[in-house]
Amino acid sequence: MSELLTADRIEEIGALGLESPDPAVLVAELVGAVDEGRVADPDDTGYALLVAADILEQAGDLADALALATRAIAEQPDDNAYARAVRGGLLLRLGRADEGLAELTALRPLLETDPQATYVIDELAESGHGELALEWLTGALDAILERTRTHEHESEDAQDEAAAMIYGLTQQRHDLREEQGLPHDEYDNLADRLRAASTHALDALDDGPATLLFWPQAEFTALLLRWPALGDSYPASWDEHRAQIERALAEASGMGGADLGVAVGTVARLAAFADRAGSDPTSEETLDEYADSLDEAAVTAWPPGRNDTCWCGSGAKYKKCCLPRSRS
Ligand SMILES: [Zn+2]
Ligand SMILES: [Zn+2]
Repeated sequence: MSELLTADRIEEIGALGLESPDPAVLVAELVGAVDEGRVADPDDTGYALLVAADILEQAGDLADALALATRAIAEQPDDNAYARAVRGGLLLRLGRADEGLAELTALRPLLETDPQATYVIDELAESGHGELALEWLTGALDAILERTRTHEHESEDAQDEAAAMIYGLTQQRHDLREEQGLPHDEYDNLADRLRAASTHALDALDDGPATLLFWPQAEFTALLLRWPALGDSYPASWDEHRAQIERALAEASGMGGADLGVAVGTVARLAAFADRAGSDPTSEETLDEYADSLDEAAVTAWPPGRNDTCWCGSGAKYKKCCLPRSRS
């Protein structure tokens, strides 16, 4: 057991979790790699510890989960908001309300600046603080909407980010209020309108070029070798291919798109699909139909967490891979 612990393996363990016959072995694998300095990318140390904490919490061992979350914060002092949220939630669920609320309150400003920060609300809601969660959601929405009203000349990136936050916060608030049996208010109506618009935005994307059908690097190369005519529909390089997809998804989410993802294609399956349908594998119609035919198992959700493995399969963290690509 001296091999390196890769991000892929951490992700795999996270997916296995309690489904594994012996979760304790998985926790030992993660913590052992951290103890012995065998995490392939040292930036993934916190990630490994939080996956281990999650498995322990699911197994009912909150105290040990808390110890690992605390350690994850210490290991990555610069980039630990998510770890702090996890720790805050664990403290609440351990009955240490003051400490837990202090940890989460420190993260509350993120709700107005980081579209991913809805995890702060999840921790509150999952710890019996649904009312406070609603208060924070409403406050963040008030602040962001006020900002978009008064800062008309914000950059396009800032506008996209505000739209993504408004979408995420209204949806989370809508669902939480529904759970609590509360009637629709103005923000709930906005949530409904945005959700309807996002379905529309996705339909519009479906009608466009088959950009959301994603080919992993090796498949992309094989695809263009087998059907050179596809060179007309796809960019010359795989880098540009994944950049196009990232940009299309960022745009869809800016328009309020939710449940976004990429359908991962393979040359062999496309060939079989076109064969069965008796259609031309290089036509845009066939590519669209093939993408639609892919089931959930072939769809990768988007966006991943900033520190999670990138959707493109590079093995790098999203924030260092395709996330910046959408802006170039
Ligand atoms: Zn509704
Ligand atoms: Zn990537």
